[in-house]
Amino acid sequence: MDPVLTSAIFVFGLIFGSFLNVCIYRLPRHLSVVHPRSACPQCETPIHFYDNIPVLSWLILRGHCRQCKAPISPGYLIVELLTGAMFVACYVHFGVTLATVKYCTFGFLLLGLIFTDAETHLLPDKMTLPGLVLGLMFSFIVPVNDLASQLLPGLISLPVSSDVSSRLLSFVDSFLGAVVGASFIYGAGAIYLRARGVEGMGFGDVKLMAMIGAFLGLKLTIFTLFTASIAGSIFGLWTVSAVWIKRARRRMARHHESWREALRHAGESASIALRRHQMPFGVFLGSMAMVAFFFGNRFLRWYWALF
Ligand SMILES: [Zn+2]
Repeated sequence: MDPVLTSAIFVFGLIFGSFLNVCIYRLPRHLSVVHPRSACPQCETPIHFYDNIPVLSWLILRGHCRQCKAPISPGYLIVELLTGAMFVACYVHFGVTLATVKYCTFGFLLLGLIFTDAETHLLPDKMTLPGLVLGLMFSFIVPVNDLASQLLPGLISLPVSSDVSSRLLSFVDSFLGAVVGASFIYGAGAIYLRARGVEGMGFGDVKLMAMIGAFLGLKLTIFTLFTASIAGSIFGLWTVSAVWIKRARRRMARHHESWREALRHAGESASIALRRHQMPFGVFLGSMAMVAFFFGNRFLRWYWALF
């Protein structure tokens, strides 16, 4: 690990993170990401280049607009730092390879989508669809994983066309990942709609999962779906129980109900809250996809070794 190169990659990541902030703010609002220049969301004064330096400007101005002193969300700083850290993590993990370029691109898109979904409950097509195309294209350059060589060892060892056939198999793997990922979310969304009468997952999640599948291939797509469902369920249960206990406490204090009575009444309002509450599932899919490309294969090897 070269310290100069690592620092350069980190700064490069900060700059990309700064651009990602523009995308997160503008894409769900259907605004152009290149024009006009960034402005303060409060007073709309254009931001000078010297106030637009990633991380540093935010720290120097202590998170306030230079003109109107309106607070600027620390979210901007967090996105920049996370992008920088993710770029460095890719370099440390994959070295100076094309895989680093691929996973920096993928991680960049994922971070943007995670924050957009958390903030607006939207997953813009302008990120997911180009992401899907990029994922499929990258599969020709950087092999998706070793699924193909496990299933079809004979085909890989063909002497003349081994390079061509392995690239083709990588593409098939990427394509299958996209199809299986999208179909799973589409199917789960349809079941959810029937069972609860509200839309739990939109087409944004379907397209996000198609993009993730294209970048990861079939095996890690299944890993992502599985772990994101578990993480989402834990988060959902935790939210509902928190609402439930809070309401029950309030009823006990206000209406002098017994603990049991209060729990029963509060349970009704918690279930209404659950029905109304829309969970940004894209946040879980995106986060677990990030875990998958760093640790997924290692986890699966460990898991298979258990049996
Ligand atoms: Zn301002």
